Amino acid sequence: MNVRMKMSVFFIASLVFVQGCAESKPKKKPVSRSAMNMKNVRNKKNIIPVAIIGSGPAGLSAAVYTRRANRKTVVFQGSLPGGQLMQTTEVENWPGEISILGPTLMQRLEEQGRNLGVDFLNETIVKVNFETWPFELETESGDIIYALSVIIATGAAPNKLGIKGEKEYWAAGVTSCAVCDAPFYKGKDVVVIGGGDSAVEEAIQLATHVKSVTMLVRKKRLRAASRMQDRLAAYPNIKVVFNHHVLEILGDGQQVTGVKVVDEEQNKEYDMPIDGVFLAIGHTPNTALFADYLEMERDGYIKVLARSQQTSVEGVFAAGDAEDFHYRQAGVAAGSGIKAALDADAFLTEVGFSNDIADEIAASLFRSKKIDNQEVMQLGSMADFEREVVKSDVPVVVDFYADYCPSCIAMLPAVQEVAQESEDRIKFVKVDTEKAQDITAKFHVYKIPVLLVFKDGKLVARHNDAMSKKELREFVEQFMQK
Ligand code: NDP
Repeated sequence: MNVRMKMSVFFIASLVFVQGCAESKPKKKPVSRSAMNMKNVRNKKNIIPVAIIGSGPAGLSAAVYTRRANRKTVVFQGSLPGGQLMQTTEVENWPGEISILGPTLMQRLEEQGRNLGVDFLNETIVKVNFETWPFELETESGDIIYALSVIIATGAAPNKLGIKGEKEYWAAGVTSCAVCDAPFYKGKDVVVIGGGDSAVEEAIQLATHVKSVTMLVRKKRLRAASRMQDRLAAYPNIKVVFNHHVLEILGDGQQVTGVKVVDEEQNKEYDMPIDGVFLAIGHTPNTALFADYLEMERDGYIKVLARSQQTSVEGVFAAGDAEDFHYRQAGVAAGSGIKAALDADAFLTEVGFSNDIADEIAASLFRSKKIDNQEVMQLGSMADFEREVVKSDVPVVVDFYADYCPSCIAMLPAVQEVAQESEDRIKFVKVDTEKAQDITAKFHVYKIPVLLVFKDGKLVARHNDAMSKKELREFVEQFMQK
């Protein structure tokens, strides 16, 4: 197939995709406002007046406002507490801050919420039911919670290319988090695919570690803000190449060795030898959980009513990247979170949830179980590895992590909890990739978090991404000593 034909196939595939992304109507009939009766609240246990799903700038800003309005608020932090800002570096466009690191900003917002009395739960909501009120939310641990109002602030997840080689070499040279994985590419040549603000951030993050970064941009311009583009000039080892589409990721069966690209201007296809591929091609909203109940805009963004954050279901609000396909900025997400909080507060007043009723049902409010997990053992050397893994009588799960990797840190509580539950049947240990470089290199770890499972001293399984508590339980179950 020649280059033009390949591009037509690509174009037709894109059209099919675009057609599949139209607005959608909910399949299930949500509860009507007339059925929202305080009687339903008085006979329930595990009640939350304001449940916020997601803990990025939208969710945390909403929590500050609902708590200040004296509404008991629980934030379900999800699989990446702090959201996408945890994976960014300097933020120069947060009002009132000349420059602040993304993770610092999110830590401050969380502290502000805790100081006001917001409850934070390291939990993911896996199921919702908006056909009944109070709304039902199910956590990954199996708790059913009854929420009088819900603010959806689930953000968005990085897109993948869907081309040959991407899946095969995921975590073996292909990744989408420079903050987490740049240190594994010291002295190497890498490409960043994409031309938006995220791509520029990834390239800058990589530039201080690698030999060279080539940004492969499909159009003849960058989409990134001009101030972001200006920052590139300070890094002589970053090169921007326009009009290039990536057709395939190439490898030797073990590791990425290059990318097959097409230069559209020259109408020329060629192989570019490189060691790593960092994807930064935009994001898709995390809203599939709500699709049966809520009206959606194109591409899965939740539809909100004009001049409010209310969704098509009264009492359910959406904020941030889950509903905003236009601005997609942290500051705008925070603002929409605040609007959602004000809307939720007004809704609770309208349905008659007064302070008196809140006092009356105080004993029925949801309380999270306090879990006191023990630290998982840390391996520092190959001698530790030999003793604790190779000579172990039970199977061993080795969690590779680093303190600078947000998704690794987010996963540690789940690792500790599952380790405690499965004591005697499987052992968990962790390896700090910065400190135990010999163990890291021996097992070709180029992306974190990564979990390796050993049985009778032999490597039997590898999982290359962060996992939720439930996924982790299911993953380790198959290797446990019966
Ligand atoms: P964007 O949607 O802004 O950019 C995506 C980039 O990927 C575009 O260059 C796009 O190309 C390219 N792309 C998309 N699909 C493909 C594909 N299949 N192959 C090759 N290239 C592809 O997403 P971002 O994640 O960069 O940013 C999301 C939002 O977050 C934006 O609003 C951004 O401003 C914001 N942000 C702000 C930051 C800051 O202020 N510090 C940091 C990071 C993000 P094309 O242009 O041709 O469509």
